[in-house]
Amino acid sequence: MSRAAAPDRYAVVGHPVAHSQSPFIHGAFAAQTGERLEYGRIDAPPERFAQTLRDWIASADPTRGRGPVRGCNITLPLKFLVLPLAQRASERARLAQAANVLRFDAESDGGWFADNSDGVGLVRDLIDHAGVGIAGARVLLIGAGGAAAGVLGPLIEAGAAAVTVANRTAAKAAELIERHRALAQRHRCMLTAAPLHDPGAGYDVVVNATASSLAGAPVPVPATVLGAGAVAVDMMYGPAARPFLDWAAAHGAAPRDGLGMLVEQAAEAFALWRGVRPLTAPVLAALRAKLDSGR
Ligand code: NAP
Repeated sequence: MSRAAAPDRYAVVGHPVAHSQSPFIHGAFAAQTGERLEYGRIDAPPERFAQTLRDWIASADPTRGRGPVRGCNITLPLKFLVLPLAQRASERARLAQAANVLRFDAESDGGWFADNSDGVGLVRDLIDHAGVGIAGARVLLIGAGGAAAGVLGPLIEAGAAAVTVANRTAAKAAELIERHRALAQRHRCMLTAAPLHDPGAGYDVVVNATASSLAGAPVPVPATVLGAGAVAVDMMYGPAARPFLDWAAAHGAAPRDGLGMLVEQAAEAFALWRGVRPLTAPVLAALRAKLDSGR
């Protein structure tokens, strides 16, 4: 009697990580596409991150049903620690200087490959699910941390006419812009920094990529940033995003939370690992229903 090989293993690695919805999302993708895999959660404090990954990879033992470790997602606060561990990285991960995806290829295939799917996740959610045109848009990107760094390049590549980056620590916004200067020139996108208290007015798309909602802090910009028919996105989701979304709606903008981005960045990772692109709309609907029901 032949036994099926132990399934490939994946996980989300973070600290803390218990709240992560990634196992639900990747479980749904696997069921939908018929891919055989296991997806779990691994808590790794920053000082144990690299060793935790190595131990996990070494734990593969098909005779005990533990299949090979093929890849992982990386979440807060570890995204900035990934690139030095990887032998190869995508251009978008290098520009962001942060990665949220690792694929463990054989050494002969180049070893660990790092990618950043956050930005393409945001852009796909806006275009495919929310019907927002990025091409030609004036975009305000609030924040210059890991999330903002991941989305700036994809916003430029999606054809934004202009992107202004406003961050509490101005030097971080300036540095982020400097790294993306050549890309912006290639795509004819006007790239500027602005102070958080005076971020400019009348944008088509406003993206809150700060941790303000997570921290329960006030919306960090004045409502004058919202142009007529603007879309205002908070990367946060769940109850913590509510004040930003209510603020946007109260000032006539279309609010959008970060749940679609979360599902789309996961789909990009899944395609990188498995070579199959899952359908995201049903998984986004199922995740929203799950969170709405408090599960
Ligand atoms: P991070 O690297 O720690 O950066 C935090 C950013 O928020 C910095 O720009 C920081 O400004 C700013 N900030 C923090 N508190 C603020 C406040 N009260 N007012 C104004 N600015 C404030 O974090 P991150 O990885 O970029 O994550 C940011 C948010 O995006 C988090 O809520 C995270 O959950 C969310 N996110 C969502 C997804 C998704 O798929 N939906 C993906 C990635 C991230 P300074 O530079 O001045 O400190």
